[in-house]
Amino acid sequence: MKKLVVITGASSGFGKALALEFNKAGYPLLLVARRVELLKELNLSNTICEKVDVTNRESLETAIRKAEQIYGETDLIINNAGLMLLGNLETQNPSEWQKMLDVNVMGVMHGMQIVMNDMKKRQCGTIINISSIAGVKPFGNHAAYCASKYGVVGLSEVARGELSSHNVRVMRICPGAVDTELVHHTTSDELKDAYFGWKEATGVGSITANDVAKTIKFAYELPQGVNLREIQIADTKQDA
Ligand code: NDP
Repeated sequence: MKKLVVITGASSGFGKALALEFNKAGYPLLLVARRVELLKELNLSNTICEKVDVTNRESLETAIRKAEQIYGETDLIINNAGLMLLGNLETQNPSEWQKMLDVNVMGVMHGMQIVMNDMKKRQCGTIINISSIAGVKPFGNHAAYCASKYGVVGLSEVARGELSSHNVRVMRICPGAVDTELVHHTTSDELKDAYFGWKEATGVGSITANDVAKTIKFAYELPQGVNLREIQIADTKQDA
């Protein structure tokens, strides 16, 4: 049996595509999200589905320990759960900033901290954090989202250095715009329309969540001694 892969935010978008891709290759999985019914609907073999809000460290840890009891220690965690609420710094409600920082940054750090000690002891393991192109360059009306995703790049690189001598890999994936549920949570209709207008004007739309999932699986399946530290992956027609 292959080693345990933990995927957060597996109920839609990249997380769901990752779950299907890793399951197809025979990995035992722990899938977590708040909408656990969507995880169960996938009906995947050798897979545990748990209702977890990644901002709740205890609940995430309980789910991971439960899966480890069954499948052995976590060899890969993909800290993917996240949300994007577009908004202008001058006008956006600070509760939206807080939500993004809690899920996109704190959620990722919880996932890392829960598995990293065992990985260090075993001198083996991989942590993959999902950042964004908005984690390496700025976009208008993305201030808080950029803050969260630049944060993921920063904390991933610090952890990469700290874990390097223990043979543990930390990678960050920075995708461009891909069709998922992500943008639909933005509360401003005007900003959602502007986002869709930009996609239409540039022709962005070829890249799929499945392309991103396959790329992540490729990076993970490189030998443990090879760390593809950062991947930027976007639609060829994405201009920024
Ligand atoms: P989706 O909205 O389709 O998926 C987001 C996933 O995160 C869902 O499964 C959702 O599950 C989960 N999630 C959200 N909040 C929580 C929470 N508090 N606890 C647990 N799970 C949570 O978007 P994507 O697939 O696009 O996004 C995945 C990641 O990729 C995010 O980090 C996003 O920022 C990043 N990204 C996406 C890009 C894109 O264009 N699509 C580009 C660059 C980066 P549920 O609601 O069931 O809890």
